[in-house]
Amino acid sequence: MKRIAVLTSGGDSPGMNPAIRAVVKKAIYHGLEVYGVYRGYEGLMDGDFRRFELKDVGNIIHRGGTILRSSRSERFKTEEGQKVAIDHLQKYNIDGLVVIGGDGSYRGANALHRKGVKTIGLPGTIDNDINGTDFTLGFSTAVNTVMEAVDKIRDTATSHERAFIIEVMGRDAGDIAAWAGLATGAESIFVPENITAKDKMIDRLNKGYERGKKHSIILVAEGIGTAEEFASYIKEKTNYDTRVSVLGHVQRGGSPVAFDRILGATLGGKAVELLMEGVSGKALGLEKNEISIYDYEYVFKEKPKHPIQVLCNLAIELSI
Ligand code: ADP
Repeated sequence: MKRIAVLTSGGDSPGMNPAIRAVVKKAIYHGLEVYGVYRGYEGLMDGDFRRFELKDVGNIIHRGGTILRSSRSERFKTEEGQKVAIDHLQKYNIDGLVVIGGDGSYRGANALHRKGVKTIGLPGTIDNDINGTDFTLGFSTAVNTVMEAVDKIRDTATSHERAFIIEVMGRDAGDIAAWAGLATGAESIFVPENITAKDKMIDRLNKGYERGKKHSIILVAEGIGTAEEFASYIKEKTNYDTRVSVLGHVQRGGSPVAFDRILGATLGGKAVELLMEGVSGKALGLEKNEISIYDYEYVFKEKPKHPIQVLCNLAIELSI
């Protein structure tokens, strides 16, 4: 293994830059040449490669997003697209590729692996929806971003004695809602993994107000419905002054928190080690505080078994 490359693909996440930095520095430390591939698989097919030196990853450890930029590519899903990409890799004599992205990006990395390109996948997504890892790169930062936003909303909710329904990201996974809900003392959390009865939310709202609560915070992961839908339901059943806030893309940006930087460093470094050993076709993660190494197929087999419901139930118990 003499020359490797790194790309970021799919939805960006804070933590991608620390991971790129780790891949580049670890590779150079061990005498490898390393290339940055711009714009994910689109750049791989266009030959948008650049030799990276240490200075190219200077001053990026604290930056959100990805300096390599990212893309979604239908063309890469075709045999023809993958062939063009492999031709470019061969032209540059690149023996190994680190792919940082979500589940879709792993499918692309798997396709390359099956065609003989050595690839290692790192879980770069805020959603925490990748099997085989307790945490993905960017998830912790997103939870912190939501927590800070909800803290601010709570101030105004208290002043005006309002119920706030806050919609957060998470189409299939309620991890952001569950973690942020627990961190902010939310009264109710609605996640795609479980349709908690809405009438219980009304019960809890009523009891809270009877006890003298001045506000209510309800977190809704986008995959279970919109904040507007939940607000309409509350308005139908109660007289509470209700407001909606949809946090949106603010959740995807921002400087990575310490945990995401460390996860990026750890997994980025490990990816290079594995490529140097000739390993390919593996997705890396962190499970029970150990680096986990799985075949892509294992990751695709099922959704992660994170304890979302346990967190949601606890949040309800603690919001009395
Ligand atoms: P994420 O990686 O965040 O889940 P996507 O699902 O959009 O984001 O996947 C990123 C890219 O990975 C896609 O745009 C496509 O180029 C590539 N990809 C997804 N699925 C496949 C597949 N089955 N075969 C090859 N490439 C794929």
